[in-house]
Amino acid sequence: MIISENAVVLFHYTLTDESGNELDSSTGKDPLAYMHGHKNIIPGLEKELDGKTAGDVMIVTIKAAEAYGETQDERIQEIPRTSFQTEEMSVGMRFEAKTPNGPVSVVVTEVNDETVTVDGNHPLAGKDLTFDVRVDSVREASEEELSHGHVHGPGGHNH
Ligand code: ZN
Repeated sequence: MIISENAVVLFHYTLTDESGNELDSSTGKDPLAYMHGHKNIIPGLEKELDGKTAGDVMIVTIKAAEAYGETQDERIQEIPRTSFQTEEMSVGMRFEAKTPNGPVSVVVTEVNDETVTVDGNHPLAGKDLTFDVRVDSVREASEEELSHGHVHGPGGHNH
């Protein structure tokens, strides 16, 4: 079966950044499962998988704009230190920030005497990503999966 709209696709992948550092991999784990055409995975990779079939392998580099998006400056903010209840702020700390659009996961990128800089961009925003992919299997989605718009069972949702 060929990967097209509504197909359930299971694939193995290794993800590397521009410097060749491995960021993530399904090696030794279950393959990742997604429903094609439902934005379950980044758009650039979904596009590349279109028309492939079980057993196909490929290495593709996805531009940031087609992956987790470009880094957005407005998601980087300087906040007065007095806004934080704790004294201990350090670079690399992660926490949930309340915003008008709901909670956003941010990371501390700079700490000064007066201010703390936090970055709410996705950790992979602004990065071109290379995927080494092997399509494990392709099957039809069940009625229930179609109505939910995602995969159930191994590699997918359990609910
Ligand atoms: Zn579901």
